[in-house]
Amino acid sequence: MARLVRERLLSFFDGAENAAENPDPLLDVVHQYPEEAAWFIKVVMFFGSISGVVISIPCGLFLTMYWGPCGLCNRPLRYWILVHCVLQLLQAPVRLVFFLRLCHIQRLNGNIQECVRHLTHSAAWRTSKVVSIVTYGWFILGVVWLLNSTYCKPCPGLYRLSLAVIFAAVARLLMTLIVFYHSFPPRFQNQPPPKPRGASQELIDSMPLVVYSPEVRGDSETSCAVCLSEFDRDAVLRRLPCGHSFHRGCIDKWLKRNKVCPLCLQDIEVPQSPKGRWGKEKAN
Ligand SMILES: [Zn+2]
Ligand SMILES: [Zn+2]
Repeated sequence: MARLVRERLLSFFDGAENAAENPDPLLDVVHQYPEEAAWFIKVVMFFGSISGVVISIPCGLFLTMYWGPCGLCNRPLRYWILVHCVLQLLQAPVRLVFFLRLCHIQRLNGNIQECVRHLTHSAAWRTSKVVSIVTYGWFILGVVWLLNSTYCKPCPGLYRLSLAVIFAAVARLLMTLIVFYHSFPPRFQNQPPPKPRGASQELIDSMPLVVYSPEVRGDSETSCAVCLSEFDRDAVLRRLPCGHSFHRGCIDKWLKRNKVCPLCLQDIEVPQSPKGRWGKEKAN
């Protein structure tokens, strides 16, 4: 009998057979950032299971003591707390198993991705997801009931307890968001990529200046790509490491905002293979 229960439990938490179908979005995160994801999942699972149990104990005690008087209140908050606690307790074992398995696999230096893949394809995980959705719906209902409840003389503690349960749930959600924010690099949080930085005056001054002369330059660049006007004879140009030249005034203004060549987008700080003084190699 005990063996059968054990086998049933093991298959409940193991999704090896149907691993190919319905990939969980969690897997993408784990694939990209296995270490960060493992830490995030562990924290969320651990606090999720612990907080569920911790909240359910005082609620259970309160309800057994005041179940009768609480029935006289104008909103069925006693049922709300009861169901909320049951939903939390239902999820606690799955969260705890998830947490323990991740700890185990990390201790063995095993494949975190494979471990999460197995767990997210298990019947336990799918059941837990359904329970989560029900929990959110039930939570909203509780908030509505609480907002509409009036002072309950026979059972004044019920209102305060419901409020505390709701605050605890909100606090857990906030904690999850904070842990997520701190666990993953900014790129994953869909933040825009950092803006290109401008160059310092010192860096701009280190780029060589040349005096334009059509005879020497031959048929290479004859106009400035920033202002689109032709170079005049004896115009002072600044030559970038990529070999492109522009009016000194035009390119200096540009580089202060964006330290890449406006023509080829080459970063001016990235070392380049040396080009000829007049950039003639480009033409060859
Ligand atoms: Zn120009
Ligand atoms: Zn260039």
